[in-house]
Amino acid sequence: MNTFQDLGLNEDLLKAITDLGFEKPSEVQDKSIPILLESDTDLVALAQTGTGKTAAFGFPMLQKIDSSSRTTQGLILSPTRELCLQIANEMKQYGKYCNGLNVVAIYGGSSIMDQARDVKRGAQIIVATPGRMKDMINRRLVDISKIQYAVLDEADEMLNMGFKEDITDILSHTPEEKNTWLFSATMPKEVAKIAKKFMKDPQEITVGHKNESTSNVSHEYFLVNARDRYQALKRLADANPDIFSVIFCRTKRDTQKVAEQLIEDGYSAGALHGDLSQNQRDIVMKQFRTQQIQMLVATDVAARGIDVDDITHVINYQLPDEIETYTHRSGRTGRAGKTGVSMVIVSKSEVRKIKSIERIINKKFELKEIPSGIEICEV
Ligand code: ADP
Ligand code: MG
Repeated sequence: MNTFQDLGLNEDLLKAITDLGFEKPSEVQDKSIPILLESDTDLVALAQTGTGKTAAFGFPMLQKIDSSSRTTQGLILSPTRELCLQIANEMKQYGKYCNGLNVVAIYGGSSIMDQARDVKRGAQIIVATPGRMKDMINRRLVDISKIQYAVLDEADEMLNMGFKEDITDILSHTPEEKNTWLFSATMPKEVAKIAKKFMKDPQEITVGHKNESTSNVSHEYFLVNARDRYQALKRLADANPDIFSVIFCRTKRDTQKVAEQLIEDGYSAGALHGDLSQNQRDIVMKQFRTQQIQMLVATDVAARGIDVDDITHVINYQLPDEIETYTHRSGRTGRAGKTGVSMVIVSKSEVRKIKSIERIINKKFELKEIPSGIEICEV
């Protein structure tokens, strides 16, 4: 295993790394840093959350830019305000010995003029949400025409959140000759399309699905007739009376329908989807968090980022359209060393998707029988 010295990082960065107490590079850093330092290449890097992606692009960017110049040379796009602030802070720490370095975070909900002023003072690196960045470009408050390095961080999340057009628009204001580095936890079709559109012959690295292979989540699937899906769900709930679960449906309508049906049938359930008001969503989340309801029926979008402790089961009432989304779903359980089960209810026509998911998560599913009660599983 390489040390940070072996990767070719300069003294300023190595000193900061010592201060931070990082002992050795993480896998994504070990793989990305040499590539980015040694060649002017585009890069697609796939690695789960918490694997150290910020430093994987941050160190090479800091080493390659000229911190004595006041020109904006690096742009990092990230999906949320919180992430922008976090990345900007980390970049400042990583670059604390880079003389003259200015890193500025740009995001909505805070004064655009203040941010413009900070950029004007000479920010070599901008960390921005796509929405605010586009706004500032349109108002000619920033100049990104001399960018040499553009990072799309959490690319899958940015696309999920509908930032595709903003990203396209922003990149059109950057020079052709820059390098683009894309970091993502998953590689759904939309991300592959973006990579194809904006990148030239990118090198690709993938870091093992650490979360999955070391996690305590087991994966099970249940084969049922499509029309018996709801019955199967009830059997699963009956067989697990202490269940504390997120149940994923594909559409807002199905989500609402399944939740209503469960409540009508006497189960402790609630719905979470985008057609509810923010207030309704806050209420149901609070009930779920405090375990006043046992089953949260949700869409992928509404349940994004939900971090609730002690979820025992994730139930895929329907498989997601993009099989990569399965990883996000199953990651809701088995947190903090606890064990969890991710269950999939599938009909015969979808069963081949299980194989594709197995390849992605690098784990095998167990085929289980729906707990008995009524005859519903003869397929
Ligand atoms: P990701 O973007 O992949 O989710 P981050 O870049 O946010 O991950 O890093 C996760 C945490 O790990 C951060 O607190 C970061 O400071 C820390 N970290 C990153 N690289 C190392 C390393 N080589 N050794 C120890 N800790 C590290
Ligand atoms: Mg990150």
